[in-house]
Amino acid sequence: MMPCDKYDLAIIGGGINGVGIARDAAGRGLRVLLAEAGDLGAATSSASTKLIHGGLRYLEHGEFRLVAEALAEREVLLKIAPHIVWPLQFVLPYERHLRPAWMIRAGLFLYDHLGTRVFGLGGDRSSLPRSRRVSLGPEGYGAGLKPEFTSGFTYCDCFVDDARLVVLNARSASAHGATVRTHTRCTSARRQNGDWSITLKDQNGEQRVSAKALVNAAGPWVKSVLEREIGVPVRGGVRLVKGSHIVVSKIHDKNHAYILQIPDGRIVFLIPYEREFTLVGTTDMALAKVEPQTQISGEEIAYLCEAASCYTARGITATDVVWSYSGVRALYDDGIEDPSAITRDYHLIVDENEPPLVSVFGGKITTYRKLAEAVLAKLARWFPRRGPWTEFEPLPGGEFGTADFDGLLTDYKRRYPKLKVQWLARLLRRHGTLAEKILAGARDEDGLGEDFGGGLFEAEVRYLIANEWALEADDVLWRRTKSGLHMSRAQRGRLDAYMRGVA
Ligand SMILES: Cc1cc2nc3c(=O)[nH]c(=O)nc-3n(C[C@H](O)[C@H](O)[C@H](O)COP(=O)(O)OP(=O)(O)OC[C@H]3O[C@@H](n4cnc5c(N)ncnc54)[C@H](O)[C@@H]3O)c2cc1C
Repeated sequence: MMPCDKYDLAIIGGGINGVGIARDAAGRGLRVLLAEAGDLGAATSSASTKLIHGGLRYLEHGEFRLVAEALAEREVLLKIAPHIVWPLQFVLPYERHLRPAWMIRAGLFLYDHLGTRVFGLGGDRSSLPRSRRVSLGPEGYGAGLKPEFTSGFTYCDCFVDDARLVVLNARSASAHGATVRTHTRCTSARRQNGDWSITLKDQNGEQRVSAKALVNAAGPWVKSVLEREIGVPVRGGVRLVKGSHIVVSKIHDKNHAYILQIPDGRIVFLIPYEREFTLVGTTDMALAKVEPQTQISGEEIAYLCEAASCYTARGITATDVVWSYSGVRALYDDGIEDPSAITRDYHLIVDENEPPLVSVFGGKITTYRKLAEAVLAKLARWFPRRGPWTEFEPLPGGEFGTADFDGLLTDYKRRYPKLKVQWLARLLRRHGTLAEKILAGARDEDGLGEDFGGGLFEAEVRYLIANEWALEADDVLWRRTKSGLHMSRAQRGRLDAYMRGVA
C-alpha cells in the first residue's frame, strides 16, 4: 500500500452532488479528495431529464420549499453556467377533463413567482418569460401534436447538459486545489485516532488516505456504502426509483417542449434534443436494488411510446427508439407508497461522532449547489472558514454572462469563418469560452485533426483526455459530448480504437 495522504474532507462519489460539494469545499480552502468509482457523472447524474426546474407537479404534492429553492436556483445557474444551461419553453396542452383552467392558471401564477423575493428568495422577478394561455396549431405551439389539441399554456424552465455540469464542477474543484480521482473506489472507511482512515482502490492497487471529515455522496449506493464500506448503521431508509428515457427522431422543428398529463396521473416530457431528436421521459419504477448497469426495460419503452402517442400526430413505436438511458433516484424514504409522490427534496444525515460523517440522500440536479452549501454548513463546526461563494463564480467556460451566448457565437464566427456555424455553436454550448483551447490555431476542419464523425474531431478528444478525465470512448461519446448520437457504429468503434491507442 502507498503512503498515506492527509485531507480535510474526503468525498465518496463523483455525481453532481459529490463534485458540487468538492468545488464548494475546495474554494473555501479545504484540502479535498473526491473518489469516484467509475467515470464522473456516469450514474444518475447523466441520466436525468436534464431540466433545471422547480418541478411544476411538485406543487401538487405541496413541496413549496423545494420548488421555491429550485426556481431561485434556476437564476443562479443561468448566470454561472450560461453555456450549458439555457431557457426552454414548455407547452401544456389543455384538457378540460383533467384539471379546470383556473387551477392551471393558479398553479402557473405560483410557479412564475415562487422563486422570487416575494417569497423571500432570489431577485424581484424571474428573468424568464411568464406563463400564458396560447392557441395550439400545427405551425406553432401545437407542432407535432394531434389536431384535437387546440389550446394550452406555456411556461419557462431551463435545460442543462447534466453530464457536463458534473465535469465542469469537477474542473472547478480541481482548479481550487481539490484532488479528483476517477475509477477509484472507496472500499472502506473507518474512524481511527480522530480521523477517517479510508482505503481507495484503483487499477494500480490499494492506497490509504486520511481525512478529518467524510461525505458519502454515493447516490443510489448511499445506503450500501454506509452499511458496507463505512460500517455505520443507517437510521433513515432509501427508496430506489428507476427512471428511463427514450430518444426518437424529432417530432417537430420548433424549439419548445411539451409537458403531457398521462392518464395514470403522471407526466411525461417531450423535449427537443440535440437538434435532430426528441427526448421522451420519464418512467418511475420502484426498485429493490441497484444493478451496476441500469437499463431500460421493454415495459418502460412501451409505456413511453404509448404515453407520447396519446398526444403526437405521428405514432411512436419501439422501432423509432434510437437511444435510451436509465437512472436511479435514491430518495429519502418518507413513507409514501406512490414512487411519483415521494419527496425529491434532499436529506442530509449527519453523524456528529468524531470525526464527522455526512450522507446525502435524494436531491435534484437543480439544487446541487444549495445542497453543497447545506453540507458545508453542517460541517462549519469543524471547518469555520469562508462562507458560501459558489453563487458568484462562473463555472469553467461560463464567463460571458447570461444574455451573451449569441454574442459569443458571433465573435467565433468572425474569427473562424471557415468552420461551420452549427458546429461552432455546438462546441460553444459544450465549452463556452474554453472552446478557444480546442480551436487554437485551427483555420479550418483540417486543422482539427482526425474527423471521427458526428462533429467530433481529434482536437476536442485530446482536450477532453487532457482536461476532463476522459479515458474511454463512452466518456466522450455519451457524457463529455453527445456525439455518439450522431455517429455510426463503425465511427464509434474507430473512436474506441483511437482512445485505446492514446491511453
Ligand atoms: C430519471 C431521472 C430523471 C431526473 N431528472 C431530473 C431533472 O430533470 N432535474 C433535476 O434537477 N434532477 C433530476 N433528477 C435527479 C438527479 O438526477 C439526481 O438527484 C442527481 O443526479 C443525484 O446525483 P448524485 O451525485 O447524488 O448521484 P450519482 O450521480 O448517482 O452519483 C453517485 C456516484 O457515486 C459513485 N460511487 C458509489 N459508490 C462508490 C464508492 N464506494 N466509491 C467511489 N464512488 C462510488 C457512483 O459511481 C456514482 O457515480 C432525475 C433523476 C432521475 C433518475
